[in-house]
Amino acid sequence: MTKTITLIEGDGIGPEITAQVVRVLNAAGAPLSFDRQSLGQKAWEQTGSLIPEATLQSIRRNQVALKAPCTTPIGKGFRSVNVGLRLAFDLYANIRPAHSLKGIKTRYDQVDLIIFRENTEDLYIGEERVVDADTVEAIKRITRPASKRIIQAAFDYALAHQRKKVTCVHKANILKQSDGLFLQVFRETAAFYPDIEANDLIVDNACMQLVMHPEQFDIMVMPNLYGDILSDLSSGLIGGLGLLPGVNRNEDIAIFEAVHGSAPDIAGKNLANPTALLQSACMMLEHLGYDEHAQRIHQALVSVLSETSIRTRDLGGTASTVEFTDALIAKL
Ligand code: NAD
Repeated sequence: MTKTITLIEGDGIGPEITAQVVRVLNAAGAPLSFDRQSLGQKAWEQTGSLIPEATLQSIRRNQVALKAPCTTPIGKGFRSVNVGLRLAFDLYANIRPAHSLKGIKTRYDQVDLIIFRENTEDLYIGEERVVDADTVEAIKRITRPASKRIIQAAFDYALAHQRKKVTCVHKANILKQSDGLFLQVFRETAAFYPDIEANDLIVDNACMQLVMHPEQFDIMVMPNLYGDILSDLSSGLIGGLGLLPGVNRNEDIAIFEAVHGSAPDIAGKNLANPTALLQSACMMLEHLGYDEHAQRIHQALVSVLSETSIRTRDLGGTASTVEFTDALIAKL
């Protein structure tokens, strides 16, 4: 059965990598039809809205979206299109798997961790206030319900996917009330999952451990800001931002997107690596129950990376976005 998904090509490198990902999905015979919608800079230029109502309606209708990175125009009174979209649907879980890819040479070849980043609160509520000319404050909000649902999602995922350990990352030694509450909820929740090992690490130590021994981590759960930083760090462990996929989701709606941004420095030059968006599309196929198509695409990706030297520039190669995709489609 063909499933309709909302497709957002985004800004910067977005349209280039989206076009190539759609080519791969079609070549793999994925039973999808695309409801194309706009968001971000382009939507602003076309409709005067950064998040058009038609786009929200499409996502609400299809419940699944594949989204390329969007640019938030500076000075339009908007914090971020991405934060706005996540809040519009209360997409509380940002899930970002970092797996070593065969054929990509990095310092580590056994990274297999998944970050569960809380997506709706923490410093991202954007409540800042000027106290006086030399003093500004920002509110860090941590609540029990928001902490509980992301922590539960991490443990439920671990249980469903035979993962062994969940690590909570926090700074409760300093932020005793806010991160202290997150850690307390983590400990309370962990008690309901006796078969899953639970531990916690202070965020600075977690960063050091990640770059020294990333293989020790399995599932990691954390408040919003630490999740933002640690997922970029994790992308560095496996070969860079051009590779790391992700999803923002709740129980009903899932928006799949690469971790990276719209990369204006290389936009329009046919240089971007489409892999992160393609891996996000594979996560989407699995979510829709099209596991076979996801596996075929993943296999073709691994074949290109491990059997050829065809790579985009971010991975030390000279191939263009289109040349890399051509090689991948040939493997399919
Ligand atoms: P960025 O991720 O766009 O770029 C950081 C660096 O990584 C750049 O050097 C870029 O060339 C490189 N890079 C990123 N993706 C790549 C890819 N697929 N292939 C090869 N190289 C790649 O981060 P930034 O420069 O801080 O942000 C640029 C814009 O993106 C901003 O407007 C920001 O708001 C937006 N942004 C959007 C999202 C999203 O839509 N989910 C996420 C982050 C940033």
